[in-house]
Amino acid sequence: MRNRILKLEKASEQLEPSPSQRNDWAAAVQDYAHDYVDSLPNRKAYVKRDTPSTGLLELPLDGQPKPMEQLLGVLKENLPNDGLNPASGGHLGYIPGGGIYPTALGDYLAAVTNEYAGIFFGGPNAVRMENMLLRWMCDLMGYPKGSLGNLTSGGSIANLIAFVAARDSKKITTDKVKNSVIYLTGQVHHCVHKAIRIGGMGEAMVRNVPMDGQFRMDANALAEMVDKDVADGLYPFLVVASAGTTDTGAMDPLNAVADICEKHNLWFHVDAAYGGFFILADVDNPDGTTIKDTFKGIERSDSVAIDPHKGLFLSYGLGAILIKDIKAQMESHYYRASYMQDTLGATEEYNPADLSPELTKHWRGVRMWLPLQLYGIAPFKAALEEKILLTRYFYDEIQKLGFEVGPFPDLSVATYRFVPKQGDTNDFNARLLEHVQTDGRIFVSSTTIDGVYWIRIAILCFRTHLREVDMLLEIFKEGVEKLVQS
Ligand SMILES: *Cc1c(COP(=O)(O)O)cnc(C)c1O
Repeated sequence: MRNRILKLEKASEQLEPSPSQRNDWAAAVQDYAHDYVDSLPNRKAYVKRDTPSTGLLELPLDGQPKPMEQLLGVLKENLPNDGLNPASGGHLGYIPGGGIYPTALGDYLAAVTNEYAGIFFGGPNAVRMENMLLRWMCDLMGYPKGSLGNLTSGGSIANLIAFVAARDSKKITTDKVKNSVIYLTGQVHHCVHKAIRIGGMGEAMVRNVPMDGQFRMDANALAEMVDKDVADGLYPFLVVASAGTTDTGAMDPLNAVADICEKHNLWFHVDAAYGGFFILADVDNPDGTTIKDTFKGIERSDSVAIDPHKGLFLSYGLGAILIKDIKAQMESHYYRASYMQDTLGATEEYNPADLSPELTKHWRGVRMWLPLQLYGIAPFKAALEEKILLTRYFYDEIQKLGFEVGPFPDLSVATYRFVPKQGDTNDFNARLLEHVQTDGRIFVSSTTIDGVYWIRIAILCFRTHLREVDMLLEIFKEGVEKLVQS
């Protein structure tokens, strides 16, 4: 027995590389990463291919060891040369990604130390760090002391956690679901509908509240709908407002929605996955208000979903749910298994595992803590303000090229289209988008609102500056000239 164990030990020891092996691997990965970052300004934001590359399939998972160089070689050949490059400053489609470098270093530390951030007993410092970050974000939103939430993988899970807490807190038991009512607009992110269904509320009545001309929720219409539903004996319990819709960047009137929720004791959720961190921006609006003013009322909500992997420019993998009534969140998510009896007892911090569906998880806090502490808040604030102003600059300049535009951007998303003298406008703009995507230096995407095809610009990558926006304007200018002639 002992001999066999010792033999196995010898073989399994390879899983702990020697210091020199570690150095070699780390150096190779670092070279790859740094070359990649340095090459970004010369790379396309989008590589359009008819069929995605299949190079990865040529290196099957055959159970055989392979040298690091070969593996990095395969990644180098295949990954960035296909489809959308979320690290590119030219990514101005959908909601752009981030990828600030210290996020990667934080992930590296989390992975190497493998700190456990599920339960305070197991990883008090890892948990404390995550809760500090949550309290910092609660503070940003104007939430009172004692609010918390959870660091999630993204906005989708953040919304799910909030809806489940809302469901339980408002006592929407299974027998009540069919007569319960949720209010949102046609512009909420599709993951909101997904979360409602996954959260067991798929049979609830979901009311589309009408919007004003700027795609913001019409609070008067909401008030009327809730009044009617209450009079009809239904159970209105949840309103989902957006602080920055994905499609058009619209800010719903949070303060007015808060009034209605307060009056009827409804759970007020704000999906600020995209827009939440713009609360940091000191920028005046043309109508005399400020960006901060448009967030007024968010402090009156019950929960906020906010994505640091969007508005704080972190690499993908970090969202957050902020919840004012931590007991409500806990009642929906905690569980005590008998094999966890050692973890009971007084703890200074709430356990992330009691506040979300997850137990064992990546210590995702350090990927946010490290950049925030290294840089301080000033460069983030500057970048957010820059993105708002870049969007406004684009909004002005694209009109000078003869484009029609949608509403003045509330944050950093704008819509626009070119109306040709003849021919189908939707078709023309679809071809114009094709022109931009074929060029590939800059990537933008489109949307259809009430049957009208609009091209969008969404500026949120920290690498997007005037250079990229000017380049896009140039590409549109060429595109229109080319398409009008043909
Ligand atoms: C991106 C986004 C989501 C979804 O978040 P993920 O991080 O992609 O899961 C939800 N709501 C809004 C408004 C978003 O922009």
